[in-house]
Amino acid sequence: MSRLLFQGVNGITDRSEQIKATSARTNHRAAANLIPVPCSLFPASDKLHEECGVVAIYGHPQAAREAYLALYALQHRGQESAGIATADGQHLANIKGMGLVSEIFTDDVLSKLPGHLAIGHTRYSTTGDSALLNAQPIRVDSTKGLIAIAHNGNLVNLGNLRASLERDGAYFQTTSDSEIIVQLIAHSRSGTLVDCIADSLSQVEGAFSIVMMTRDRIFAARDPRGFRPLSMGRMKNAEGPDSIVFASESCAFDLLRAEFIRDVLPGELVMVSQDGVTSRQYATGLPQSSCVFEHVYFARPDSRIFGRWVQESRDEMGRQLARESGVPADVVVPVPDSGVTAALGYAEEAGLPFRMGLIRNHYVGRTFIEPEQRVRDFGVRLKLNPVHNLLAGKRVILIDDSIIRGTTSRKIVRMVRGAGATEVHLRISCPPTISPCFYGVDTPSKSELIAANHSVEEIRQYIEADTLAYLSLDGLLASVRDEQKTGYCTACYTGNYPTQWVDVEDILPAAAAI
Ligand code: SF4
Repeated sequence: MSRLLFQGVNGITDRSEQIKATSARTNHRAAANLIPVPCSLFPASDKLHEECGVVAIYGHPQAAREAYLALYALQHRGQESAGIATADGQHLANIKGMGLVSEIFTDDVLSKLPGHLAIGHTRYSTTGDSALLNAQPIRVDSTKGLIAIAHNGNLVNLGNLRASLERDGAYFQTTSDSEIIVQLIAHSRSGTLVDCIADSLSQVEGAFSIVMMTRDRIFAARDPRGFRPLSMGRMKNAEGPDSIVFASESCAFDLLRAEFIRDVLPGELVMVSQDGVTSRQYATGLPQSSCVFEHVYFARPDSRIFGRWVQESRDEMGRQLARESGVPADVVVPVPDSGVTAALGYAEEAGLPFRMGLIRNHYVGRTFIEPEQRVRDFGVRLKLNPVHNLLAGKRVILIDDSIIRGTTSRKIVRMVRGAGATEVHLRISCPPTISPCFYGVDTPSKSELIAANHSVEEIRQYIEADTLAYLSLDGLLASVRDEQKTGYCTACYTGNYPTQWVDVEDILPAAAAI
């Protein structure tokens, strides 16, 4: 059982706000079902959704175009909306839209974003509804001047803060929790803007990697526990000083030809202005709890986050999985794309051939014409197709990164068996997901998580695998260990939440059996 239940001075108000956030997620899912083929048909719907990606550029003559490239590299962190705000020392422009980065930011659109400063955001909504209003960056004209903000993560004490700000006269323009930070800045009585930002950040609880921009300054900060990644880099300019860049993942720097400098530290606020780069720790003393699931699934393998290459972590997860739960087999097959790196590690450790026995169609959009007579497991077949000659007559070890509800895993196991595999052994490169996330990852409630309500053997029977094994928690933590001794959040595997605030209803187990 979770050691931290819902707590707070004003419990009723806070709880209703938290439940509102959950409803918004549910509404978003319902809205998604309006497209011709329901999203529930797609394998991705049984995956946890990415959170958001943020970028910031300081001191580049074409800051908007650099932000666009960086967002393009971070598209995997959110495909619902994107935005870029720029500043030229005098004015602050902001354009955002629904859809993919490349769909929103044409040449023409980018030309309307002048300036040498930019921040950008790509979003999958985790709180607030999915409307354009809540797309980011959010631009607020406050008592401290124009501020644009882009935020990756989730605040967990938003109910109390919002109510008290509204009592103080704050007028909210969006339902996004990111705006709370700007309103706190506007209402801060500290002397300088940077003091107001530090004051604001020290009042919010939860996960946030933030980039902010005024007319002439960029700010970047991480929450005191460092849930979400945020890296700082440098771009050489042929003429003039280097540009400073920030991005959720270092893979964005590669496209910009920027050099990785370091991670923004948990509890650190970095400011970039014409006077250079300055930094302060606005919060200290809290244990680090970076999201281990970034290493398991979210981040790209070509990124370095929390001081470690994601590729190395996933490779080690696969190796560890082979050591913990090896089984006689003929071939190791990943569930693409996210299972590939762990499967390579597993195959090498087990001395078995690695084969791409499932091919993913990368061009499946949200809309297409549904055939009149839908075949069984139609949705999964749209995205994945078995390579019959690699699977027929083989004992297959299938590597995936998670089982959420179990429905997709069952379809994939059936698909592999249908292609002629004689045995299907499913291996998962993390422990069972037993609890929802409140830190910026869109997870179902506990009642919908199959591992929260059923034993491994019951899940095995449900998904129709010959054997099923998960990576142990110790094995996972050993796989992501680094020299900096990063502390990790593992709440979705343990139910032990690093913060005080969780949604009571979301952590109730299911009453019904599968
Ligand atoms: S609960 Fe899970 S997904 Fe959420 S921050 Fe913690 S480890 Fe990451």
